[in-house]
Amino acid sequence: MPHTLFISDLHLSEDTPLIRKRFLDFLAGPAREAEALYILGDLFETWVGDDDIPSPFNRKIVEALRELSDAGTALFLMHGNRDFLLGQDFAQACGATLLPDPTEVTLYGMRTLLSHGDQLCTDDVEYQAYRKQVRSAAWQRKVLALPLSTRHQMARDATAMSDKAKQAKTMEIMDVSPQAVTDLLRKSGYPRLIHGHTHRPARHVYRLEDHACERWVLPDWTAARGGYLMCDSEGCQAVPL
Ligand code: MN
Repeated sequence: MPHTLFISDLHLSEDTPLIRKRFLDFLAGPAREAEALYILGDLFETWVGDDDIPSPFNRKIVEALRELSDAGTALFLMHGNRDFLLGQDFAQACGATLLPDPTEVTLYGMRTLLSHGDQLCTDDVEYQAYRKQVRSAAWQRKVLALPLSTRHQMARDATAMSDKAKQAKTMEIMDVSPQAVTDLLRKSGYPRLIHGHTHRPARHVYRLEDHACERWVLPDWTAARGGYLMCDSEGCQAVPL
């Protein structure tokens, strides 16, 4: 049956070769059978600019994505909070289409809203202020003009700061805000919602003004496990790897 796959939050980095291996196996396996693959953010743990595509680690991933799209699986890519500097050069090298966040698609007749999910964590005021800064064109222009080595150091510093900040935040603050979710569902006309980011894979069901809405949260990938969401005309199901 024709179907579409969704993944997010692989956080690929040279420090986690097992995740990359599982991802490459996934691209050569289940992804080949799919009509389309959507990567909904945080494919990479850090991305400092498309001029880093030639590094051996990145090149291998680009080549594997290119093989998939060349083999006929349509490839779509959304930014996460870690790899928001992925650009058109990367997308083009992979044969992928870069999507804005959120994006609405019609999937086998069903309206479906796709998002990374970090925008829904509105209780994390500190993060939303940071997000606004780093997503501005002016900030990105300035940063992308810095030497690659400087950007790598900035990314390491940002990761360390974010890890430290997370320790001080409650699980509730780092989850999506229930209000932000229902606001988005209402505003968008009660679609199905698929997002990642929170690393809390689940299927949530909402009843809003007589509309049944489904919210799927994608799993993150670790050395021990990974997974994807498979959707077809009968609905979606989580598939562990
Ligand atoms: Mn994320």
